[in-house]
Amino acid sequence: MTGPPLLSVRGLAKTYAGRGGVKLRALDGVSFDLARGETLGIVGESGCGKSTLARAVLRLTEPSGGDVLFEGESLRRLSKRAMARRRAAMQIIVQDPFGALNPRHKVRRLVAEPLIVHRREWRARVPELLALVGLDSDAAGRFAHEFSGGQRQRIAIARALALSPKLLVADEPVSALDVSIQSQIINLIGDLRAAFGLSMLFISHDLSVIRHVSTRIAVMYFGRIVEKGAAADVLENPAHPYTRALLAAVPRAGAPKRAAAVIEGETPDPANPPQGCAFRSRCRDAMEVCARETPELVMRHTAAGPRETACHLHSPLPAKAWGEGHDPALQSRRVPR
Ligand code: SF4
Repeated sequence: MTGPPLLSVRGLAKTYAGRGGVKLRALDGVSFDLARGETLGIVGESGCGKSTLARAVLRLTEPSGGDVLFEGESLRRLSKRAMARRRAAMQIIVQDPFGALNPRHKVRRLVAEPLIVHRREWRARVPELLALVGLDSDAAGRFAHEFSGGQRQRIAIARALALSPKLLVADEPVSALDVSIQSQIINLIGDLRAAFGLSMLFISHDLSVIRHVSTRIAVMYFGRIVEKGAAADVLENPAHPYTRALLAAVPRAGAPKRAAAVIEGETPDPANPPQGCAFRSRCRDAMEVCARETPELVMRHTAAGPRETACHLHSPLPAKAWGEGHDPALQSRRVPR
């Protein structure tokens, strides 16, 4: 990463109040940097906190702890009004664009709305934006419900680009689309990102989607990042057992599609987080220490760059943490695979 990051997320946390006042932990100390022009793919199963992270970064949901620095400025210190102004430079695309597109407004108004709100010229800009996303200018006079799912996502992308943002957060932007349309939208997002030098957080449960767009990848489990590194390195040499399980769940060309629940077991109850590693009940490599000590993200350097992994297989613990009678050679014996 050269130059200061566009975005720095530091220890971001979010808890929700559940029934009976029980605290539900959705994000637990998430940290990462995003360079200008970089795409960080964030992947994990449904419920791992990815979408909460997307919304907390933009303060569409208020974080419970930590901070987000955008161009060095703390977003959490901004007033709501100042944050609304700052958000012009950071836009989000969501899974269901239809829910975000007012059915009573024509496409012209939908795409122009951010420009109108921020008092910018919009009449000449709308046809430009529609052309950018591959829609004819006559689309401006129609309603969103007259378009297919893929075309509606194009409208949502045009609207997201209206204010020339520096950061685009794409939250499962293709998961509601037919597979045949997914690659068109992924390619469109990739082309626009390159053309405008956007930085992007691309969030998906699907590693086969993430691998097409990402410079780096962060793997999330139970509200935390458990592995992070250069995309090709993480995909070719996954170190965390959860990343390996996610990769094993990606269907290979010609192979029969495997069930979605390939990773056996359930994610822990957010109202009652387990002690130690949250993945241990599903991990084939779990050791006794995993029930006691929560693994922290530890960085090591590989030929492909820095790699961070939160797993006791890769983090040297102080001898006392392993307990009496532990054979220190056990850890290194269990690492390779
Ligand atoms: Fe498995 Fe232990 Fe690593 Fe968790 S810390 S992923 S339980 S080996």
